[in-house]
Amino acid sequence: MTQCCKHVGAAAFRCPLTNKGAAFTEKEREELGLSGLLPTAVSTDDQQVERMREILNRFEKPIDKALVLDSLRATDEDLYFRLLTRYIDEYMPIVYTPTVGEYCQRFSHIFRYPRGLFISYQHAGHVRDVIERAPNKEVDVIVVTDGERILGLGDQGINGMGIPIGKLALYTACAGINPAKTLPVVLDVGTNRQEYLDDPLYLGLRKPRTRGPEYDALVAEFISEARRRWPNVLIQFEDFGNQNAFRLLEHYQDKILCFNDDIQGTASVVVTGMYSAMRIKKEAITDQRFLFFGAGEAATGIANLLVDAIVSEGVDREEAIKHCALFDSKGLVTKNRFEGLAAHKKPYAHDMADTNCFLEAIKQYKPTAIIGVAATPKTFTKEVLEEMAKLNERPIIFALSNPTSRAECTAEEAYTITKGKALFASGSPFDPVVYEGKTFVPRQGNNSYVFPALGLGAVFARAKWMPDGMFLVAAKKLAELVSEEDLAQGSLYPPLSDILPVSVKIGAAVAAYAYDHNLAGNERPADLEKAVEEFMYRP
Ligand code: NAD
Repeated sequence: MTQCCKHVGAAAFRCPLTNKGAAFTEKEREELGLSGLLPTAVSTDDQQVERMREILNRFEKPIDKALVLDSLRATDEDLYFRLLTRYIDEYMPIVYTPTVGEYCQRFSHIFRYPRGLFISYQHAGHVRDVIERAPNKEVDVIVVTDGERILGLGDQGINGMGIPIGKLALYTACAGINPAKTLPVVLDVGTNRQEYLDDPLYLGLRKPRTRGPEYDALVAEFISEARRRWPNVLIQFEDFGNQNAFRLLEHYQDKILCFNDDIQGTASVVVTGMYSAMRIKKEAITDQRFLFFGAGEAATGIANLLVDAIVSEGVDREEAIKHCALFDSKGLVTKNRFEGLAAHKKPYAHDMADTNCFLEAIKQYKPTAIIGVAATPKTFTKEVLEEMAKLNERPIIFALSNPTSRAECTAEEAYTITKGKALFASGSPFDPVVYEGKTFVPRQGNNSYVFPALGLGAVFARAKWMPDGMFLVAAKKLAELVSEEDLAQGSLYPPLSDILPVSVKIGAAVAAYAYDHNLAGNERPADLEKAVEEFMYRP
């Protein structure tokens, strides 16, 4: 057990890192003075997992299961990760999307176990003291949010802490990052959500969000102090609002080891889905036209990496940009709107007629793929899907908005309305769909396929920073791991149950990129894949 002393007697049950509950062996019971403090029979690790699963099965609502898992983690972390790793398909939707959305919304009402750091303006000028108080001697990965744009749910203030906690659990379960070396952080800079400001149980600062120099100073102080204590730490920015997310990434991307999963991790996993779709369509990425419903972090992140992917096939960048178009809350992003556009949308303002009707935009741009990332539900209507099926033999339909209630369409709608032609991926999980005797197995374009492995590769190689090329390498590697059987049933991603071996391969590819591009802080091992695998924590 890392970073924990040996607890004796009943104290052994109170430390989540050393507690084994009924799985303490006879010898350990004797050594630690536990005889008589536990039921007589010793359980195996497997029995512990199955017992826990039985308990969880007693609860119907996902949020209740999440609360039980919280308690488990607070009492026996090893068992928590054993369970999560073994049944990742079953518990990922509880620990992360879609349940984590509700978990955040209720955070102030269900909070029981402090985890990670809560840094607010009260700490400005003294962030070092807070960082020093963190119990972790070493930290490999920090996930930090300011809670402004949680999933598709908007401003959640301090309640957004559910996201870094959930994401870091996936770093461990999906890519073997040692949980003792992970640290969730929320920057509590206020909230603009009145309902929280009025909620007596709300746990954050009761004031509107601070912006400007004061905000930037707190972020900078946090980053500098975290890196002072843990110089090799990877900092993942998570669920910041647009105005800060793009700015912070641009400022820090090539200066420190960091990335933004909403922008870059999303891009990587969605580009994977497109490569898989190309294998089914037997077409090249350079033949495609991508129309995004939404023009925020996910949309521009994906568009930028698709452009890189097209450029990597030898196409001129100016030409490649024309393969992506955006549709935001004001309609199609066109050249006529250039002056008033946010910087991240400007490259995609093409010479097209203005329209605020998505169906019209499809008729005009004639996309081969539509990608829904506006957190606006039910926008891939029957007419939209029919038009896509009319324009394309195999239309690519990605309904990525989370949680499930925000999805642009369901898997069933996509397959039935396009008469089984759609190549579909979603942000939240959907059950298989039977259409005219054929079973389609839609898979999530889940960021969990790549962000933990990207982190693993970067941490392993002690990368100095993470260029966009790393995200394209991860996408290409994941696409290679989609089997012909997966493709035959319409799955554009491998099963999540294979995530650990998948992460090893992606992690090794990312680390290889760091070694090849002189970005690594250590020596390249002879057998990189084996070394990455050995580096991983196993419960
Ligand atoms: P964001 O806030 O950065 O962007 C949302 C965009 O939607 C903005 O450009 C906004 O103008 C646009 N929009 C809002 N209402 C609209 C409307 N009625 N019509 C057209 N456009 C509209 O958010 P984001 O980070 O880009 O995430 C968007 C959604 O994508 C969220 O639901 C998120 O959960 C989901 N997402 C899924 C994945 C995944 O499946 N792997 C990854 C990232 C994000």
